[in-house]
Order: sequence, then structure tokens, then C-alpha cells
Amino acid sequence: MKIAEMGGGREAGVADAPDPVIADNYAKVKVLSSPLCTEFQFRDRERRGCFGHEAGGEVVEVGPKVRHVAVGDRVVVMPQNSCGLCELCRSGEHIYCRSPRKALEVCSSQTGRDTAAQYVIQQDWLLMKYPRSIPDDHAAMACCGFGPSFNAMQSMEVTAGDTVLVAGLGPVGMGAVIVALHRGAKVIGVDVSDYRRNLVLEIGASYAFDPTDPDVDQKVRDVTPGGVGVHASVQCTRVEGVGKFMTRVTRARGGVAFIGQGGTLDIAPLVGKGLRLFGCWHWNHLRDSERMLATIAGSADRINKMITHTFPLSGIEEAFKLQVAGQCGKIVLHPWEE
Ligand SMILES: [Zn+2]
Ligand SMILES: [Zn+2]
Repeated sequence: MKIAEMGGGREAGVADAPDPVIADNYAKVKVLSSPLCTEFQFRDRERRGCFGHEAGGEVVEVGPKVRHVAVGDRVVVMPQNSCGLCELCRSGEHIYCRSPRKALEVCSSQTGRDTAAQYVIQQDWLLMKYPRSIPDDHAAMACCGFGPSFNAMQSMEVTAGDTVLVAGLGPVGMGAVIVALHRGAKVIGVDVSDYRRNLVLEIGASYAFDPTDPDVDQKVRDVTPGGVGVHASVQCTRVEGVGKFMTRVTRARGGVAFIGQGGTLDIAPLVGKGLRLFGCWHWNHLRDSERMLATIAGSADRINKMITHTFPLSGIEEAFKLQVAGQCGKIVLHPWEE
């Protein structure tokens, strides 16, 4: 099969790799949509070889113990390789599993764990079925596009009429804007990129501010009812200072959620305003698949605006450079296109 890889004598490109093989409760999935994420791995030369943890596609082969999916099913491939046995896994909080399985060892496969490839393997219970009425690129937003922010909005109990601040409008923050809009909230986006600020306004955000503006705190408060700050805020970047900014502009007893894994906080405003804090890595697909699919199906026009570029695997270097420059919404790879 073809894979996209980083390194190997160039910044990124296509390579040949053996097809993955399956065993046990693993299924082989033909990847039809592989959204791009974590461009810092490319920018900071953090990784070599194949990569990627988001995919939608079609089940093409099933292992002997597969029960939950069949050949021909369209599925979203959930990230990680959780055990399926511990309390966290059984309650659907599998992303936090402390005893993950070694898929390649179980299947005696050399490949299949990275989604920027033509095939991946995953355990059947970590594949979420979706109807063919939902385009593959839209369904694949159930990974990082919508996943962590879906959890954040649920945790913060964002509801119609709330004001939500999304800090960082990259491949995760863009989705957070849409998830909040779907819940009926009024959305304020914050990002240094003009391109992305304009894009979220087009998608439906009410305001978009530049965080380098010295008056940004006041500007955010001014557009909230009573000028007291937003009901909820979500950090979708790793940039230092963003967490502190959110605690300043969120109203008393508001929610503050963290998706980007970086930055520091001051304790005083948390206590003084009684803020509620949430760490949100992924969402609970055993409990909330229906609600996630409804969010995706109900946001089709907005998702079409959010996905600004698609590339074949051979376009990977250009795709990453575009993402690092912030001149795009969500980028999606199509591994079977030339
Ligand atoms: Zn587990
Ligand atoms: Zn991701």
C-alpha cells in the first residue's frame, strides 16, 4: 500500500509499505478520508515515518473474533488501541486506558497503526459505524475535528444562548466553533491568523479577535451579555498564555476546557470566580455516537466550509506547509486519489 511519511531524506512524501494483516478482533479498514492534525510534529521534526490518528473508511476484512462490524460497513476509526477490558474502556472512556494493546504484535503486522495510509487496522469496538448518507470526510470529523470539543461542550453543558470563546482556530478549534454553533451558542473565535478568523466568521461565529491586540480582553467582554465575560471557553492550542486569557474573560462559575496540551494557569482567578475546569482529550463513542452523528449530519454546510483543502498522499508536504502557515481550515488526505 501507499503511505505518507515524514523524513526519509525529504520533509514529507509518499512511500510504499506492506499491507497490514489482521487477527483476533481487528478489522482492516480502507482509508477513504484521513484528516490532518498535529502539524507541530512536521514543523518541529518531532516524528519520522508514517503518522496520523484520524480516519473514516470502509471495512474490507475482519478478524475471526470481530463481532461489531462487517465487511462493507463505513466506519470512523477511533484513536489509540485501548484494552477493552478495564473500567475506563468498558464505560467508553477508552482514551484514558492505562493498559493499551499492542496491535502490531497481536496481528503480526508491520503496518496499520497510522491513518495517513491506504489501510489501517483497529479493534472492532473502536470502529464507529456511520450511514452512507454522511460523506466520508464529514464522518471523519468525529476524530479530532469534532471529538475533543464535543466532549468539552458537553462537559461545560453549553446550551442555546450561551456565549462560547474558542481560543485557537486550527484543525481542532475550527471544529469547536461548529460544535458550539450546533448547540445554539454564540461563538467568539480567537486566532493570530487572518485567514482563520475570516473563515470562522463565514462558518457562523459572531466575532473573531486577534489575541495580539492589547485590548482583546475588553473586546471579548464587551460582546458578552452584561459585559461580564463568556459562559464557556475552550483552549484549542498549546500556546502559552491562552489558558490565563480564558480564565480572565470567562464569567464567574463559567466553564473552562482544555484540549491543547500546553501552557500554564494562575490559580487565583479560578478560585475567585469559581471556574469549572475540564481536560478534554476525546469523547465517549460508546455512549454518544448517535449525538455525534447528529451533530455531523446537522452541520454539513459548515463542515463543507471548514474543509478548505483535500490532497492525495503525494501532496503531504504541501498540505503540512499550508497548515503550519495557518492558511487553511481543516485539511483532509484522500489516500486512494492520485
Ligand atoms: Zn482499558
Ligand atoms: Zn488529531
